[in-house]
Amino acid sequence: MRISPNHPRFRSLETRERLVRGFQAGIVAPQGLIAHGRGEAFDYLFGEITSKSSRAAAKAAAALLLSARNPVISINGNTAALVPRDMVRLAHSVHAGLEVNLFHRSVVRERGIASLLKRNGAGHVFGVNASPRFRIPGVASARRIVDARGIGAADVVLVPLEDGDRAEALRRAGKMVIAIDLNPMSRTARAATITIVDNIIRAVPELVRVTMKMKSLSRSRLSATVARFDNERNLRKVMKDMIHYMQGWS
Ligand code: ATP
Ligand code: MG
Repeated sequence: MRISPNHPRFRSLETRERLVRGFQAGIVAPQGLIAHGRGEAFDYLFGEITSKSSRAAAKAAAALLLSARNPVISINGNTAALVPRDMVRLAHSVHAGLEVNLFHRSVVRERGIASLLKRNGAGHVFGVNASPRFRIPGVASARRIVDARGIGAADVVLVPLEDGDRAEALRRAGKMVIAIDLNPMSRTARAATITIVDNIIRAVPELVRVTMKMKSLSRSRLSATVARFDNERNLRKVMKDMIHYMQGWS
């Protein structure tokens, strides 16, 4: 369906359409459509804007990605359908690997997502019928299977729209985790080293912009930016922003 740009909810409706098209193309899992609904509900409660707190988190995340030894970006169906080009741009900008990693795993969908990323400019994509494999200890879903040379070897992993148990397990495996999740109360948001509470459709372009700006900074400047960031404190701020926005309605 074509949506008029004059519709007051254009951006939100257009995002839904992208997911539906992604579903029809075999990129998005049906469960992904439901997960997006949970995200949308939170976005509504924040006024569908990128807050100061999420901007601060994006800056810290950019610094962590730029100073990482081996950063990897984990891609699921919703991420591939919504921001394929920006994710490839981000990977180039911070020299990160891209890895397909699905909760509802199928080799056909893995291949479809990898070729979508390649059509958007990606080089190698990890995680298609991963071999050699590495199993993240303590994860119950298929998401425990990762590429040994991708997420398996990464020191920093960017996990948009993650499930909480894998975020926790990645931390236990000694990796630093950057999450993008609109729910500041999710286990993912709580477990991550840095959580960007924002819609992925705004957060990833923001990350690309910030990494471009910070690229030339020295290692010590980058580490200082990461060290200054306190995820727990930032999540408390995010909750306050949300309550403040809701109070404006009453
Ligand atoms: P957890 O296991 O971490 O507590 P969950 O069970 O609440 O997470 P899942 O269903 O595993 O969540 O994954 C969906 C998550 O992704 C939700 O937290 C939702 O808020 C978030 N989400 C969905 N769509 C978007 C989006 N477009 N941008 C950012 N976050 C999103
Ligand atoms: Mg979950």
